[in-house]
This record gives sequence, structure tokens and C-alpha cells, in this order.
Amino acid sequence: MQLIRCSIDGERPKEVPATIFWAWRDLEGTRHAYRQRLCLTHYAMNVAPLERESDDDRLHCPACGIDSEDNYQPVWASIFVKGMKPASLTLPLCPPCMLRVCSSAELGSESLPDREVGAGAAAPTYSAWETLRALGRDDRV
Ligand SMILES: [Zn+2]
Ligand SMILES: [Zn+2]
Repeated sequence: MQLIRCSIDGERPKEVPATIFWAWRDLEGTRHAYRQRLCLTHYAMNVAPLERESDDDRLHCPACGIDSEDNYQPVWASIFVKGMKPASLTLPLCPPCMLRVCSSAELGSESLPDREVGAGAAAPTYSAWETLRALGRDDRV
């Protein structure tokens, strides 16, 4: 039994849940970042299919497979699954798939502070000092 519940079905999975850090910008340029914990079933249904790589030189939407080279909305995902190498993906999603992927990424997720994590960077890490500074409790300020 895990302490964390799956973001989608609210159940406590028996296995260690997958953690996904999502980030994207909306049309106004506002950055959105979320942390989502999923049971392995929902990870396999919602996230794993996006990990496929295209061997083509052109960009393809990883959700529906259409050529998205000239019209895509990037979504970044850093994926942590027990027993697997952490993956950092930049998804060139076509606009309708981007909306769909983003709304399922927001489902039951925890909103993260606006920090740069996109463009292949790893998931955000917070030092104790940064946390204190964010809380306004750093004496040096
Ligand atoms: Zn689930
Ligand atoms: Zn698509």
C-alpha cells in the first residue's frame, strides 16, 4: 500500500506510483507546471504512449502522429518511474493534442511555482535555502 493516491482515479496503488513533472506555456506565454503522481496503469495509458520516438527528421505529434513540424505547442515532461531510467521529454504536440494532454496533466495534479524547467532541464529541485527564501525567512535578505 502506498501513501500517495493516483491523481486520476484517487486510488492508492499497490506499486510505487510514477511521478511526472509537466510544464508548458499557454497562448499568453504564462508558464504552467504541475507534478502528477499516477498509478502504473494510468501512467501506461496516459503518458507512456507519448514517449514514442519518431525516426523521421520532421517533428510529429507524439499523441496522434500527424506532422507537427510547422505547428506545434511544446510540452515538457520529466518522468520518474521506479525501475526505469528517468526520462525527460519535449513533446511537439499538435494544438488539439496539446490541449488534451495538458488538461489530463492538470487532473489531480499539484501546481508548482513558476520556475524554469523546460527545454530539457531536469525536474525542479529546491534547496533548503531556496525554500527559506521563498518563504521570506532568509536572514541574509
Ligand atoms: Zn490510477
Ligand atoms: Zn496530435
